[in-house]
Amino acid sequence: MEIKTARFLMSNSSVQKCPDPNMPEFAFIGRSNVGKSSLINMLTNHKKLAKTSGRPGKTQLINHFVINDNWYLVDLPGYGYAKVSKNQRNKFQAYISDYIINRENLYCLFVLVDCRHEPQKIDMEFIEWLGEKQIPFALIFTKSDKLGKNQLHSNVAAYKKQLRKTWEELPPIFMSSAETGFGKEEILNFIAETDPS
Ligand code: GDP
Repeated sequence: MEIKTARFLMSNSSVQKCPDPNMPEFAFIGRSNVGKSSLINMLTNHKKLAKTSGRPGKTQLINHFVINDNWYLVDLPGYGYAKVSKNQRNKFQAYISDYIINRENLYCLFVLVDCRHEPQKIDMEFIEWLGEKQIPFALIFTKSDKLGKNQLHSNVAAYKKQLRKTWEELPPIFMSSAETGFGKEEILNFIAETDPS
């Protein structure tokens, strides 16, 4: 798939206020600083569609973008940022989980993990929870340009091994780099194939 048009539609903090679920939706989530905004900008050929920020935890809203006038891309808040207050964290986690569980047109949630790190507890717990709730998801290993090929593949293999402890079947897995554009075609093709419209 080629992205011809990408435009910001709205930001909000509740699934009830999201746009009508009249088009397929693909959402992106991950820990703060994982490279989510950079990946969204890379996929959509924009420099500033999603706001990259050196300040983790800044995007705390559900951000809708309309792509090619026929699907929604959603930028979700980063989870697990320690510096927001616990109360604030619980509050935004509640509306994110509410969105994930109840958004009827959510075809796939892309969970981003930094390829340089070992499986982190917070990510594994989140993935477990997605399984319990039967949410369709895929994994994207970001910042792949930061590792050599062998190290990258061995890190991904370690992650898979960890996942196999609880999952019989692994989710779709992608690697990406916002720097080089690596992974772009594969991710966009996956979206095109997942969307039956
Ligand atoms: P977000 O908080 O998840 O939206 O993360 P950002 O997209 O703002 O990226 C966080 C930091 O990682 C920024 O300094 C980016 O320049 C850097 N970054 C993001 N993606 C990549 C990547 O693919 N390769 C490299 N080398 N750096 C990246």
